[in-house]
Amino acid sequence: MAHVEPAHLVELALGHGTASEEDAGALRHIDRCRRCRDELRTMTRVVTAARTAQLVDLPAAPPERVWQRITQDLSPRPPAPRAPGDRTKRDRLLATACAVTLLAAAVTAAHRARRPRTGAG
Ligand SMILES: [Zn+2]
Repeated sequence: MAHVEPAHLVELALGHGTASEEDAGALRHIDRCRRCRDELRTMTRVVTAARTAQLVDLPAAPPERVWQRITQDLSPRPPAPRAPGDRTKRDRLLATACAVTLLAAAVTAAHRARRPRTGAG
């Protein structure tokens, strides 16, 4: 079996694994393959860190329009006015979304760095 695709490793790290044969095969491969096991371990650490991140952990606070866009994309109805107490929950979701985006970028970069170069380029 080929190595587990980075996107699949991210899903497993996020806890989105299912009882499907595809996931079972991936987990069997991970059990035998040090490279995939190390990648899954790294991604799991990043996901854990992302889920516990606070907005103050980000290098800069994202602009308000980022949250508005996320709300629009996730909600089928117009967003309700926010109560003052919603800020912590909102900030945590935003920090997680940013961290997961950084994770995806890091995984993509790592995957590209490991891929052998082919052809004349
Ligand atoms: Zn592998």
